[in-house]
Amino acid sequence: MGLSPGLLASLRALGLEPRLDEPLARLGYWRIGGPADAFVEVHTASQLEALLGLGEPLTVLGNGSNLLVADAGIRGLTVRLLGELREARIEGAEAWVGAGLLNTVLLSRLARAGRGGLGCLAGVPGTVGGAVRMNAGTALGEIGPRVREVELALPGGGRARLPGEALSFGYRSASLPEGAVVLRVRLSLLDEAEAVRAEQESMRRHLEHRKATQPLDLPSCGSVFRNPPGQAAGRLIESVGLKGERRGEACISDKHANFIVNLGGARAMDVHELVLLARDRVWQETGHRLQPEVHAVGDWPQGRWPLPEPP
Ligand SMILES: Cc1cc2nc3c(=O)[nH]c(=O)nc-3n(C[C@H](O)[C@H](O)[C@H](O)COP(=O)(O)OP(=O)(O)OC[C@H]3O[C@@H](n4cnc5c(N)ncnc54)[C@H](O)[C@@H]3O)c2cc1C
Repeated sequence: MGLSPGLLASLRALGLEPRLDEPLARLGYWRIGGPADAFVEVHTASQLEALLGLGEPLTVLGNGSNLLVADAGIRGLTVRLLGELREARIEGAEAWVGAGLLNTVLLSRLARAGRGGLGCLAGVPGTVGGAVRMNAGTALGEIGPRVREVELALPGGGRARLPGEALSFGYRSASLPEGAVVLRVRLSLLDEAEAVRAEQESMRRHLEHRKATQPLDLPSCGSVFRNPPGQAAGRLIESVGLKGERRGEACISDKHANFIVNLGGARAMDVHELVLLARDRVWQETGHRLQPEVHAVGDWPQGRWPLPEPP
């Protein structure tokens, strides 16, 4: 699908060169999904602000590590953050970090500077913006309590700064204003040597544990479902006998049943079928209601997302 000549001209006037019908599967962790009508790489906060000012439908990609892109792809603009939106400035026990910076890069920058505090992101393969949007975390904590302030680009144009508390962080959730894009985040750090060392050691043990228990050798999006209170979604899915279940080339992992892995050419609809199967079987046999943690984006056939009510 094309963009109108007027929109193309507006993008070019902003110094942006959209790539039309850009395949997205290579950008997402699942390696699944169709093309973006127009894929735009944005290098500055001002460009992103102006882009939102155009009032076009816009999907923001972090590192695509929690996204299920529809087989038909994404209509409108799909945006990725680069350039100054990947920079980090560390000052004392705080850092201003661009939302497009990868968590792994942030963690190594902090380690080199003798700082810590973001050990909760060890093994989370996303960007800092995606981590804020998802309130990403692990057994070592969540990013939410470390967020002092966020700078946002707002739909329709303009920017806002909000204190971390305004985002009401919850389990894998944050309340951002509808359609807002995180530009930068001010994070509080650890700067005391002993605490930083202890965190490094916890991260090392945590990463070893993940390697032993998660299917990290195949494309996936990590945990497909949120854990219900007091329960592990993976154990519930395993308890109803769904480990190894396949639809097309998508498979509920034998190693960790809350992971759906792509064995080769899985389609988004294959994953959707497994998500429904797991959700409904767990509901019928255990009475626990699983809620997806992955975000489905793009042009899905009607009625697929949000998931239909269980039978
Ligand atoms: C192997 C593996 C292991 C994982 N383990 C964990 C884990 O332990 N803990 C955990 O929490 N997650 C885990 N995840 C899931 C995923 O890494 C996190 O949810 C991560 O925070 C997503 O970040 P991202 O940059 O990839 O965002 P994406 O997946 O690209 O996007 C996720 C959502 O955030 C939105 N978004 C992205 N950037 C911005 C922005 N700048 N402003 C506004 N919205 C934005 C997107 O539009 C989308 O709605 C895992 C994933 C994989 C593949």
